[in-house]
This record gives sequence, C-alpha cells and structure tokens, in this order.
Amino acid sequence: MIILDTKEDYKNHVNLLKSKGEIISLVPTMGNLHDGHLSLVEIAKKKSSKVITTIFINPLQFGKNEDFASYPRTMDQDIDKLKKHNCDILFAPKSKNEVFNKFDDLKNLKAGPKGNILCGKIRPGHFDGVLKVVYMLFQLTKPNLSVFGLKDFQQLYLIKQMAKKYFPKLKIISAPTIRSNNGLALSSRNSYLDETSIKIAPLFYKILLDGINNLKNSNNFEQTIKYITANLEKNRFLVNYVSFMTAELDKLKINTSEKKILLSSVKLGQTRLIDNIEFN
Ligand code: AMP
Repeated sequence: MIILDTKEDYKNHVNLLKSKGEIISLVPTMGNLHDGHLSLVEIAKKKSSKVITTIFINPLQFGKNEDFASYPRTMDQDIDKLKKHNCDILFAPKSKNEVFNKFDDLKNLKAGPKGNILCGKIRPGHFDGVLKVVYMLFQLTKPNLSVFGLKDFQQLYLIKQMAKKYFPKLKIISAPTIRSNNGLALSSRNSYLDETSIKIAPLFYKILLDGINNLKNSNNFEQTIKYITANLEKNRFLVNYVSFMTAELDKLKINTSEKKILLSSVKLGQTRLIDNIEFN
C-alpha cells in the first residue's frame, strides 16, 4: 500500500494511475477504522482496479463543543487493517492545507434545507463541513466511484445530491450498515462508551426494530415516535430525534407503498449514537 500525505504527491500518483487506465474508487474516512469502514474497502475492491482510502479528521464538520480534539487517532492500527484488506493507496493529509486550498471557492457549497433537519438540526453547519471535505476529495481524485455507508443515511443522501450536481459522472455506492452481533452499529465513537454504556447501547437498535413492529399495529407515526422515545428514555438514552421519512428525506404519508426509513440519534452519557432502519 502506498501512503501519501501531501496533495502534490497524491495528485501526481492519481494522475499516474489514470494514465494507466485504472478504475479508481475512493473511500473517505476519519480513521479509527472498524469492520464497517473495511466493508466499504471490500466493496470498492470488487468494483474498481485501484482503491484509495482517505483518513482525515475534518475540522469543518465538528461544532465548537464537539469532540474534534479527542476524536480517536489510531493511524498505525488503521494502516495495518488497510494493508490486510489490500487497499492500494492511503491518503492521510498531514494538515488541513493539504485538503483545503481555495477555501473561498467553497463558500457557496451548502447542504441546504435537508442538511438542517435531523442531525443537521442538532449539529448546525455539520453537513456543510462534510460536503466541503468530500467535494475537495472528489475534486483532487476525480474517482470513478466512491463508497459511503448507509449508517450515515442523511450524510449519504446529501453527498449523492452534491455529486449529482458537481460530479455527474461519479458513481456513489451505498454500503449496508455493519453491526456487532448484538445489533449495535459499528462506529468510531463507540470507543467512547464506558463499561455500563456498552451494555445498554445495543438496546438502541432493538428499540428501533420494536418501534417498526409497533407502527405496523398502530399505523400511526406520532404514536409510534412517542412509544419509541419513551422506551429509549426508560433505558437512559437522551433522545435527539426519532423520525420516519422517505428515502428522499421527505415527510412520509401513512399508507404509502414508498420505502420508509426510521432515523434516530441519541446520547448515551457523552456519546452520540445514530442509527436508521429501512423498511416497507
Ligand atoms: P467516518 O470515519 O465515521 O467518517 O465514516 C467513514 C465512512 O464509513 C462513511 O461512509 C460511513 O457511513 C461509513 N461507516 C461508518 N460506520 C459504518 C458501519 N457500521 N457500517 C458501514 N459503513 C460505516
């Protein structure tokens, strides 16, 4: 695996691959890699001839009081994992300047109204920051395809919209959520959970699944949201939101045959967890 940490080296290397006709896939991450991230690398591997993973903790997507400083940094272990998964290139920019140069050009890149609901409502500006880094990585790499996890459903939706507008030839692949055996969606932030919380955390997914069953009986979104919220609170989760939406992040009608998504964010102690489930 080739490891690059400057924009110049990265661009030169990507150009070399392109001149050889390689099909390039990009897997952007913030590191502290787990099996969820590695599943994206595997998907990318199957669909392209060269896989690039990026590790960059993007300061623009963290709020003032969020965990940018304490976000887990585990580069050596991450490199070992990527090597084992036959990743071809790791781009780990050594500073913010290796990603954002013409920062002013990005002022107009906004996530818009659908970036201000759900997680965007509790994390103002978060998705603008996400779109800016992903835009820059797309711009630097011009990959043929890029893989993102459905676990971050709203993020994936917004990236798809941005890519459609600015990188119409780029294919965005959605990857299923990888979970622990107990159902908890893998996340780099799970490493913040203490001994007690790690036992409670799997209930998050179970309560959401139970909520979907409840909806099938009640046929009433409001009632089910109350039911899920009460159940989460009973188990010490602080509820940020519980919401039923369409795959386009629009309001759902009750008897629709459309694909439905249950999305939720909670806090357990100091740790924010998000999850979502698609159902019919
Ligand atoms: P992050 O490092 O949290 O920015 O995530 C990098 C990529 O990995 C994003 O596309 C995430 O949606 C994806 N990802 C994170 N957790 C999971 C998971 N449990 N299963 C599948 N993909 C995931």
